[in-house]
Amino acid sequence: MKARKLLMIPGPIEFEPEVMLAMSIPTTSHVAPDFIDSFGNSLELMRKVWQSPSGQPFIIAGTGTLAMDLAGSNLIEAGDNALVISTGYFGERYAELLKRYGANVDILKAPLGEVVPVDKVEEKLKSKSYKLLTFTHVDTSTAVLNDPKPFGELGKKYKVLTILDGVCSVAGEEIRQDEWGIDIVLTASQKAIGVPPGLALLVASQNAIEAWKNRKTPVGNYYADWGNWLPVMEAYEARKPSYFGTPAVNLVVALETSLKIILKEGMENRFQRHRKIAKAFRSAISAMGLKMIPVSEEVAANTLSAPYYPEGVEGGSLLPEITKAGIIMAGGLLPDIKTKYFRIGHMGSVNQSDILGSVAAIESALLSCGYKIKPGIGLVAAQEILNQ
Ligand SMILES: *Cc1c(COP(=O)(O)O)cnc(C)c1O
Repeated sequence: MKARKLLMIPGPIEFEPEVMLAMSIPTTSHVAPDFIDSFGNSLELMRKVWQSPSGQPFIIAGTGTLAMDLAGSNLIEAGDNALVISTGYFGERYAELLKRYGANVDILKAPLGEVVPVDKVEEKLKSKSYKLLTFTHVDTSTAVLNDPKPFGELGKKYKVLTILDGVCSVAGEEIRQDEWGIDIVLTASQKAIGVPPGLALLVASQNAIEAWKNRKTPVGNYYADWGNWLPVMEAYEARKPSYFGTPAVNLVVALETSLKIILKEGMENRFQRHRKIAKAFRSAISAMGLKMIPVSEEVAANTLSAPYYPEGVEGGSLLPEITKAGIIMAGGLLPDIKTKYFRIGHMGSVNQSDILGSVAAIESALLSCGYKIKPGIGLVAAQEILNQ
């Protein structure tokens, strides 16, 4: 029997074999011609995946939180006003992060499982002058999905820089950075981008770069300072050697491989696959009688789901049973309700059999925990959508 379990958590995810193979090349010099080419290609491919032909991509060793830090530290000066739209744990993190750089932060917090209505955001933007606005495309703690378009429009209307935390969405949820007018779209390698953990990825609009150039004070974070990294990105893209901090050589080669796989599938096909798989999974969950954190289909993410444990079933007993059935899922993340729900990542390379296996594992685990359902009820619901 295969000992390996299927990893269905919201990052790290299951990676494509070609990506893992690319990781295993002998590490070259960071200024070897082949590596310079890989780095340059990756920057160019990022613009396509982000759908931002005019943007400036950055590839820097670190995690998604560094990507958040890059945007925050380069764009905030002490005393600037920032508006954080929070739909969960990562919204709260962004507020904390911006405060470190001296921002006056206002938070608009959505009720659990909901988004903040656009008119509430506009009201706030009318009330005072903000330098930037952040929102989480998919908050990984709640599986709530924000529609980025209105944020882009409001950013333009009120001359506020918009930052999309896309760590749980880029290359899974629909994103058109240029068309939607979003200034920063950031992510990390280990989620829907499909590369092992260790890269912070970000595309900045020319508008955001301009705002950084017009700073009056130095960036308060030495490692994250675009002044150190922009020349490196420009050099690699011009296929020239450069150095500020040693790039994560093997991860960058793997990134190039994964971006090629993503673009070969095509962005529209990829968004559609995520939508269909997520819809099938949500349908299965509700057929099993479980409730989800997102209050409606409109605000439900396509990259992960967050169901509550049913009455009488404890997470402490359900998750180990799911593991026994061969699938790893994640517990809750939002402090107040951490023990009341679990999370299933379905992004990146996820396919039909992964999702059916996951539904079957949840069914078996529920039955072993004494929760009464008709075996197969979730599978039928999922199949109905998958076979459409
Ligand atoms: C995972 C995640 C982060 C943090 O990324 P790390 O790589 O763990 O630092 C930030 N925002 C969102 C929406 C995430 O899903």
